[in-house]
Amino acid sequence: MTNINETYNDPKKLANDYVHEVYEEVKKRNAGESEFLQATREIFDSLRPVFAKNPHYIEDGILERLTEPDRIITFRVAWEDDQGKVHVNRGYRVQFNSELGPYKGGIRFHPSVNLSIMKFLAFEQIFKNSLTGQPIGAGKGGSDFDPKNKSEREIMRFVQSFMTELSKYLGPDLDVPAGDIGVGRREVGYMTGQYNRIHGGFEPGVFTGKDPNYGGSLGRKEATGYGTVYFAEEMLKTNDLHFKGSKVIVSGSGNVSTYAMEKAIELGATVIACSDSGGYIYDENGIDVETVKQIKEVEGERIKKYRKYHSTAKYVEGCEDIWSLSCDIALPCATQNELDEAAAVKLIENGLKAVAEGANMPCTQEAINLFKEHKILFAPAKAANAGGVAVSAMEMSQNSMRLSWTTEEVDERLHTVMKNIYASCLQAAEEYGHPGDLVVGANIAGFLKVANAMVSHGIR
Ligand code: NDP
Repeated sequence: MTNINETYNDPKKLANDYVHEVYEEVKKRNAGESEFLQATREIFDSLRPVFAKNPHYIEDGILERLTEPDRIITFRVAWEDDQGKVHVNRGYRVQFNSELGPYKGGIRFHPSVNLSIMKFLAFEQIFKNSLTGQPIGAGKGGSDFDPKNKSEREIMRFVQSFMTELSKYLGPDLDVPAGDIGVGRREVGYMTGQYNRIHGGFEPGVFTGKDPNYGGSLGRKEATGYGTVYFAEEMLKTNDLHFKGSKVIVSGSGNVSTYAMEKAIELGATVIACSDSGGYIYDENGIDVETVKQIKEVEGERIKKYRKYHSTAKYVEGCEDIWSLSCDIALPCATQNELDEAAAVKLIENGLKAVAEGANMPCTQEAINLFKEHKILFAPAKAANAGGVAVSAMEMSQNSMRLSWTTEEVDERLHTVMKNIYASCLQAAEEYGHPGDLVVGANIAGFLKVANAMVSHGIR
């Protein structure tokens, strides 16, 4: 480990050596976990100026402790399909950090789920949750279960089996999951039901993203998408740009995408394309978000069906090419690493002005580097999509107080939270010598609060 006394008179070298050594160790300990290493690398690069200015964090081993989860729970999920055939999936919960509050972060059901993806998402959640200013720690969970083409009863049986094991590790002051890819209100409802069945009584405060009729917060469903657009609008405003009159591409057509589209349209933008994992729809005159809701939320169908309602729209097989269209603002809202260097090149050639990440880590590092090089405004996920978890924390407060805020109240609070996050990212970037760099600003602002809590709680 770095000899602090020897190198103290060169704080920059000390910081660089420290970050380098810890990253090498993280690489060794987490070999092959590419998404987790990608997420840690990105944070580490931003934190060098923090360690140069505050070497006491090095003495406290903050980075070493921050990159090792409090605990990881993995378990078997056996369930029976409608034909009586038994299936086995793997369940995960990564309880990464509880310095600021109970573990908080969604549950993802998708065949791609593995430990690396769970760890990257839980790690990102540390900084995101810190940025919201709410008293919440960080976690993430899920399973490699694929909810596509399953009956409602199969999904219910799977969720009940999943929750039977996971419920041992949850509680309103311990760990409070929510939804994510493949997990919406219905699945959160089944999880709540099974948790209550096991523990007895009715405990609303152990999940967020619930149906507002049964303890959920109004405005939670919309929060991540709306929040992304609120954050992006702040960033655009600072640079004399606006959603009004802009052409926007939104990838995905799930929870985050739908409400990002809705808010962007409300602010006067034209959303020209959206997608699912099968392909994308495109209409220069604007996508009708109510039709998207009808297809995805009511009918549970593929985005391809949009043409049945709007024959002037085009449907293109394969989702990647959505980034070859020309737009002013790109909102990647589907999944990790969906916008790579080649996509960034096309977007820039076609006149792109700004990107805001609605999904977690949707842009590869190479794409982000290109955006920076070409002075494209860039809002990183951990700041831009923090609105969902911020309203989840509001749901926890409402559950504790046994009351419900109105949609308008929640939306106003969300808007304030997003403006505050933007301001703190800008301020941290400025203070640490990277004015206007929201990636560095978000990483540093998120880090400082957690690091200070770790110092104050002692080495553990
Ligand atoms: P959903 O499951 O509701 O929607 C995901 C959407 O993305 C679906 O339309 C899916 O299509 C599509 N999709 C998946 N892979 C691709 C791909 N490679 N290209 C294009 N579309 C794709 O998930 P959410 O909207 O909840 O989550 C989306 C992202 O936002 C995730 O990264 C998640 O972690 C992040 N996020 C979500 C929050 C929330 O509150 N829900 C909070 C913060 C972040 P298909 O149906 O074909 O699979």
